[in-house]
Amino acid sequence: MSQKKIIVSNRLPVTANRDEESGALEFKPSAGGLATGLSSIFKEKGNLWIGWPGIPDFKEDEKPGVIKSLRGENMAPVFLNKKEVLLYYEGFSNRTLWPLFHYFTEFTQYTPEDWDMYVAVNQKFCDAILEYAGPDDIIWVHDYQLLLLPSMLREKLPNATIGFFQHIPFPSYEIFRLLPWRSEILEGMLGADLLGFHTYDDTRHFMSSVSRIAGYPNSMGTIKMANRIISVDAFPMGIDYDKFEKAARSKETYEKVDKYKSLFANQQVVLSIDRLDYTKGIKRRLYAFDKFLEMYPEYIGKVVLVLLVVPSRDKVDQYQQLKEEIDTLVGKIDGKYSTIDWTPIQYFYRSFSFDGLSALYSKADVALITPLRDGMNLVCKEYVASKVTQKGVLILSEMAGAAKELSEAILINPNDEAEIVEALKQALEMPEIEQRNRLLEMQEKLKRYSVHRWVEVFVEELLNVKDRQAKMN
Ligand code: UDP
Repeated sequence: MSQKKIIVSNRLPVTANRDEESGALEFKPSAGGLATGLSSIFKEKGNLWIGWPGIPDFKEDEKPGVIKSLRGENMAPVFLNKKEVLLYYEGFSNRTLWPLFHYFTEFTQYTPEDWDMYVAVNQKFCDAILEYAGPDDIIWVHDYQLLLLPSMLREKLPNATIGFFQHIPFPSYEIFRLLPWRSEILEGMLGADLLGFHTYDDTRHFMSSVSRIAGYPNSMGTIKMANRIISVDAFPMGIDYDKFEKAARSKETYEKVDKYKSLFANQQVVLSIDRLDYTKGIKRRLYAFDKFLEMYPEYIGKVVLVLLVVPSRDKVDQYQQLKEEIDTLVGKIDGKYSTIDWTPIQYFYRSFSFDGLSALYSKADVALITPLRDGMNLVCKEYVASKVTQKGVLILSEMAGAAKELSEAILINPNDEAEIVEALKQALEMPEIEQRNRLLEMQEKLKRYSVHRWVEVFVEELLNVKDRQAKMN
């Protein structure tokens, strides 16, 4: 029996780009951690990654060429038109599931047209997979855009080995039950043999909804269905540790850090990096920084907040509004405290190159990462991995999945402004030996459980579940 491995996610690990003048297409590989981790699987001969290439409405006559060139890289596209992107992706994925699963009930929209399109696009992914998948293949589905896909696949491929990993939180039953399509979503996920989440709490929440909404008996991470068992477990995703460690030791990073040294002479650097998102707690962080300068004016001129906000989802209203609010807040704080030769916040609304990011991580004395809710948060792990000199302090929200692993960070409640203020003071004054001890502990954990290990452990467990199922029959 030859088993192919097929990875499925909303986006392919490349993004298509169309040159505005010539109309020519170009594919840019994604440098993200997930793509790196999964490359060990999909780049192997015979395996495949299926997903959307990131822009809508390819012309009919260019599709065969795109399919052919992606196939050479072990990828296959699912083409989406503008309406599908609008209702399935911007709509149900980003206006319903994203806010609800991050506990932002006030932002959650329940739009039947979006739901219908979500079902239709999940079916479209299923049909695309069926063109390539054999009956015994291993299919690993990723994330909240494709929650219905495991059951759609199971119906057509009853013997396939199907894994599902959710990269965002799974909310508590009291939140999940608000969703009009809660039963359909759960039944969709339960087509998998193994369901993975970042934290134990996510698995607990999922199991509670399975009992109370779907009514299937479960215990100790196993759900009993009529004809098979399903395993549910926590697999906290890691980073490509070596890549960040190596970059931090590179000549390019040293040169950039040197430049920053003269730029930020006699100042401690506090670093804040996120995608523009209301879940990331950027406004609360800014209020806390304002309060910190007010309460501890001795730090005026001595500390700078480097605020990097990466543009994201700019077609969704809340994101446009958030951008304006951040702009205003930064302006207010800079206006309030700036001196002729010092500005408290250095604000960047764009993305940085990998080298630039590595230099920021290396230079920052403190990383201030305070999401209101975050499935994992990789930025904090990348900061820790980049601290090859073992000098630096991580302040981390206890609402980030990463807080479960990084208990040596200064953990804060992101809603507690006073606690963030005190954490900042503690971080800026922490003795070097304590910085070192905390970082070493965290580095040890992150090194051991890299994204490569995460992939191995998930796939091992997926095959184990299949074995357990076989023994029961
Ligand atoms: N990142 C990036 N360019 C930047 C800033 C950040 O590529 O200018 C990356 C960063 O290295 C990290 C990712 O964006 O890997 C953010 O992941 P995280 O899990 O922290 O948050 P998400 O955006 O997935 O919610």
